[in-house]
Parts: sequence; C-alpha cells; structure tokens
Amino acid sequence: MPGAGRTEEPLDPVRVLTNRSSGRMGFALAEAARDRGAEVTVVAGPVSVESPQGVEIVPVTTALQMERAMRERAGKASLIVMSAAVADYRPARVATQKIKRGAGPLDVTFEPNPDILAGLGAAKADGQLVVGFALETQNGVENARKKLDAKHADLIVLNTPEEGLGGETNTVTLVEARSAVELPELSKREVAERVLDRVLEIRGDSGKAANLKLASSRPGGKERAGGHPAGSQLKK
Ligand code: C5P
Repeated sequence: MPGAGRTEEPLDPVRVLTNRSSGRMGFALAEAARDRGAEVTVVAGPVSVESPQGVEIVPVTTALQMERAMRERAGKASLIVMSAAVADYRPARVATQKIKRGAGPLDVTFEPNPDILAGLGAAKADGQLVVGFALETQNGVENARKKLDAKHADLIVLNTPEEGLGGETNTVTLVEARSAVELPELSKREVAERVLDRVLEIRGDSGKAANLKLASSRPGGKERAGGHPAGSQLKK
C-alpha cells in the first residue's frame, strides 16, 4: 500500500498550501509491486502524472484524509510504503469566502498535521513492513536513521536534496539500522524495483514476490553489500 503524491491544505475556497511532488515515485512503486503480482492499493493525493492501471486508487486531498484512508486500509497490507509529500502544517482556519487583498501583511496560523508514517509504524502488525522516505539537506544518513527509529520504519529511502521532488529520476540511499546502501541515479521505476528487492530480502523471502499485498512509495538503483542487489557500496 503506497501513499503517493502530495497533499493540499485549503486556506480559502480557492487557495491551497501544497508542494511540487509529482506522485511519480509512489506510482512507480505501485507499478513495480503490481508487476510482481501484488495486490496494490494506492492512497493518492493530488498528482501530476497519470494513475497506473491495475491497482486500486483511493483519491484524497488533505493530510487528514490521507491519514484516515491509510489507517483504514493498513491492517490488510503486508507492506506500507509512504512516499507521499505530506504537508507538515495546515492553516488552522479555512476561510469560508475568498480572502481579499489588503494593504498590510496577512497573518495565517498553521497547525501541525499528523505524522502518518509514524502512526502507521507505531501500529505495525506482526510481519508487516513499513517503508518511508526522507529528504535531508545535511547529515542525511544520520537523520534518516533517527527517522527510522522515530517512525518505527523498517527502511528509509533517503533522497538527495537536489532530486526527488517532481523529476524522472532519483539518487537514493537505502537506510536501515545497520546499513546504508547508496544507489546511483536511477529512474524512479528502477528505484522502486530496488526498494522492493530489499523489502523481500528483509522479509527473508526473496523470490516470493506475490506475497506483497500492498505497496505505496518510490524506486532504487544498483548495489552490492550485505545481501543487496548487485553493484553498489555499503556505507555506515
Ligand atoms: O519527517 P519527514 O517529513 O522528513 O519524514 C518523511 C517521511 O514521513 C516520508 O515517508 C513521508 O511520506 C512521511 N510523512 C508522513 N506524514 C507527515 C510527514 C511526513 O507520513 N505529516
């Protein structure tokens, strides 16, 4: 089960707070899992790309809607991948009428949205795997490990700051408690394949891809170290 796309947080009837996430990574994960025979449900916020065929799409708009939709479906998922770019804050008050231009500054109070991944990680069922994404501008691996811990995730896909949002490719590092495998720049579909390969290795059932019931996130590159797919280096 992937959470894909971005969220939009309304400010008034015509304006929203959002970001540039395209939804490509989440959809690439969904397609990769589908092509391995998995039954896939994607909880998708607004996206800039076409939805994949052959997967269930649950459309949502806001972070609160995404949280509810993912929580309702998480119990059935053997894999939850959270690649969605969730707005961390939403306007505390949504104006019922379009906000008029004024002479002075406009003050808007924001309140925090729930951390969807952390909630799903904390409620993780036996045998269920949870994968998250992270984009850090400094101390990437260290901060990704903090996230792994704080969000009870099994794997964090760390993006390089210059990439990740909106583009066709990603350069990622697969971060776990004891390993960090840097992948080269890859298409998002390739990243998705690498993430799923690693998920299956963690589950100890490589090759039994059809056991993947749900997927929701992004793709990976080429490695070799600690049982990862061919060709990369292991970073501590
Ligand atoms: O803490 P940070 O936003 O860097 O963590 C990124 C990861 O957490 C991503 O997998 C993202 O989808 C998820 N996330 C979430 N809910 C939020 C913020 C981020 O699930 N409110």
